[in-house]
Amino acid sequence: MPAQIISGTEIRKTILSELQTEVAHLKAEHGQVPGLVTILVGADPASMSYVTSKIKTAKDLGFKEVQENRDPDISEADLLALVESYNRDDSIHGILVQLPLPKHIDDQKILMAIDPDKDVDGFHPVNAGRLMIGGDAVKFPPCTPAGIQELIVRAGVETSGAEAVVVGRSNIVGKPIANLLFAKGPGGNATVTVAHTRTKDLAEHCRRADILVVAAGVPDLVKPAWIKPGACVIDVGVNRVGEKVSEKTGKTIAILKGDVDFEKAKEIAGSITPVPGGVGPMTITMLMRNTLNSLKYRIGLL
Ligand code: NAP
Repeated sequence: MPAQIISGTEIRKTILSELQTEVAHLKAEHGQVPGLVTILVGADPASMSYVTSKIKTAKDLGFKEVQENRDPDISEADLLALVESYNRDDSIHGILVQLPLPKHIDDQKILMAIDPDKDVDGFHPVNAGRLMIGGDAVKFPPCTPAGIQELIVRAGVETSGAEAVVVGRSNIVGKPIANLLFAKGPGGNATVTVAHTRTKDLAEHCRRADILVVAAGVPDLVKPAWIKPGACVIDVGVNRVGEKVSEKTGKTIAILKGDVDFEKAKEIAGSITPVPGGVGPMTITMLMRNTLNSLKYRIGLL
C-alpha cells in the first residue's frame, strides 16, 4: 500500500489557524499580541526572500512586526546596540537576526547578544542547554526540528518506544531533532541513533528505523531498500539538482530533490514527507509558535 503523504503545506495551514485563534484570544483577554523584530543586514536575495515570508506570516497572524533593514557596512557595535535595544523593548517577544551576516561581523557574537528569552530561533547556547535538559526546561526548540516533531505527531505516528534513526548531526537539525525524539514526554520517548559520515553500514541502521529522519544534504542518499516497510520517513534534505521554467510564472526556478528517493520510497514507507512541501513549510510556522509562546511565558501563561 502506498505511504500516507505527510503534507507540511496542509499541517502548516492547520497550525497557523490555531495560532491565529490564540493571538485573537490573547489580544482580547490580555491586551497584548506577540511582537517579532526581523533584522536583515544587506540585500542577499535568499535572505530577503526568507525575511519577507516571515514578515508576511507574522502580519497575517496579527503579530506586531518590526522590520529592521541595515546596510551591509553597519558596524558590529551598531548591530549589537540594535539587538540590545530590542532586548529592552517589552513589546517585542522574538528577535530574529537573519544569517548569514557580512564577513566583518561575528555571527556568534550577535546571536549570543540576543536575550535567550527572546531567542525564538532557539540557537542561543542557553536554549541549546534547555533543549538538552528537556521537559519543562525547553522554551524555544529550534524551528526545523520542532517542525519535524510536529509532522510526526500530527501524522499519528507513535514515537514512544520507537526506533528512530537520524541521519546527520548538525546543530540546527540532526542534534536537536535527536534530543526532541528521545526526550521524556509526548512526541518523545524514542530510542534514537544518530548517524553521520563516519557511521559504519548506514543502510543497516536505516533498516532498523521505525522513524527515519534524513538531514544529510545528499540527493537520494537513502535507497528504497534501506527503508523498513511501514516506517515513517522524514526527508529534511533540500538539494538543488537543476533548473526548470515554472509553468505558473514562466520564471526559471530550481529543481529540488530530497535526501530520499521519494517515488520509490513511498511504495515501502508507512508515511513520508515530500520535497518540497514536507518539512520546508514547517520552519517559519514553528518560528511563529515560538514567538507566541514567548509572550505566553512573559505573561505567565506557560
Ligand atoms: P549540514 O550542516 O551540512 O550537516 C549534514 C550532516 O549530514 C552532517 O552531520 C554530515 O555528517 C551528515 N552527512 C552528510 N553526508 C552523509 C552521508 N553520505 N552519510 C551519512 N551522513 C552524512 O546540513 P544541515 O544544515 O543539517 O542540513 C541538512 C539538509 O537539510 C540540507 O539539505 C539542508 O538544505 C536541509 N535543511 C532544510 C531545512 C528546511 O526544510 N526548513 C532546514 C534546514 C536544513 P558529518 O557530521 O560527519 O559531516
